[in-house]
Amino acid sequence: MTPPRSRAAALELDAEEPLRGLRELFELPAGLIYLDGNSLGPVPRATAGRLAARVGREWGEALIAGWSHHDWLGLPRRLGARLAPLLGAEADEVLVADSTSVNLFKVVAAACALRPARRRIVTQAGIFPTDRYVLDGLVRLSGRELEVVTAEAPLAALAEDVACVVLSHVDYRSGALHDLAGITAAVHAAGGLVVWDLSHSAGAVPIELGAAAADFAVGCGYKYLNGGPGAPAFLFVARRHQAAAENPLSGWLGHRRPFGFEPSYQPAAGIDRFQTGTPPVLALTAFEVGIETVLAAPLEQLRAKSLALSETFIALVEARCPAAGLTLLTPREAARRGSQVAFRHPHAEALIQALAARGVVGDFRPPDVLRFGLAPLYVRFVDLWDAVEALREALAARVWEDAAFEAPHAVP
Ligand SMILES: *Cc1c(COP(=O)(O)O)cnc(C)c1O
Repeated sequence: MTPPRSRAAALELDAEEPLRGLRELFELPAGLIYLDGNSLGPVPRATAGRLAARVGREWGEALIAGWSHHDWLGLPRRLGARLAPLLGAEADEVLVADSTSVNLFKVVAAACALRPARRRIVTQAGIFPTDRYVLDGLVRLSGRELEVVTAEAPLAALAEDVACVVLSHVDYRSGALHDLAGITAAVHAAGGLVVWDLSHSAGAVPIELGAAAADFAVGCGYKYLNGGPGAPAFLFVARRHQAAAENPLSGWLGHRRPFGFEPSYQPAAGIDRFQTGTPPVLALTAFEVGIETVLAAPLEQLRAKSLALSETFIALVEARCPAAGLTLLTPREAARRGSQVAFRHPHAEALIQALAARGVVGDFRPPDVLRFGLAPLYVRFVDLWDAVEALREALAARVWEDAAFEAPHAVP
């Protein structure tokens, strides 16, 4: 595509863009270009008021009666039902609970137990580290085997004895989007089940779990879903698996009668059995507002804008920073791209710091990746213009030779 040729042309694109008003849903510091919403979404303007109401009117006045009067206990299910359309799932197939890491443990263990005769779990080499660590822990406990395959050939390892394949829908580093339906069908044909990690797609990329006959999924609440730092995560269990799937973290809130205080565990019917402990009511309150920010836009329009942003960003970088040593890591083909763009550069870390000093927030991922999240709810074309201008200056100034540069902190 031809990128805008001037800042004014980028502003014109913004003026015509149908989702332009939605940026107003967020508090964004003036002068900051935030291309990191795939790591931590910004705070919605409505969050503070919603939290204050829950603390003051509900917790403050109802105290312990709030669990039933205000149906705090129903929040994990209610929020799951609100998320469901973003995932192409039914309302009773999604639950909000725990963290992504904990949910991954629960659903992978459940999937493996549905294939008791099969020994292997397969995952991809570049998967987000926590997923890998959780699988390592599960393998140590269960005596199964973990097979790690390269991202290019996740299916090559499929054989008769694979219980479960664990994949990211969108790769956290490259932004590559996997074919959820195609891979699910291939694994099913080999007799296995699939667990999808939707952390880098939920809220930015339309997902069709139902149409793909997906088995299990997990995902993150604080990235494109704007649920706040450390927001609760979600999990999906297809209805056809719910009666047989067992939650290995069988806590009281997943019991059939949590307030019966019975000595032995009996799983609740349906997705409720995937709860473990008491729901974090205040964190769920903030997450509900985050989900509403995404529901404010038709998902197809979000996807269209996200792809227009990523295409523009790639074209601007290539037009304005030629021969600068940047290599595109993200697939060029729109259908294979999530909502982020990544480039490799030998001095990626110094460049990301230099951008931050110029008011442009992206992230560095080792060893040499510059990663930019292009959240379609609030990122504008003019932000891309300004970010690429800052990148061009940082490259021209060879910031990595600057004595002020030091290798810093890493943030998730
Ligand atoms: C962000 C992310 C997580 C986060 O896990 P937490 O348990 O919430 O810390 C997990 N998996 C992937 C793929 C992620 O991108």
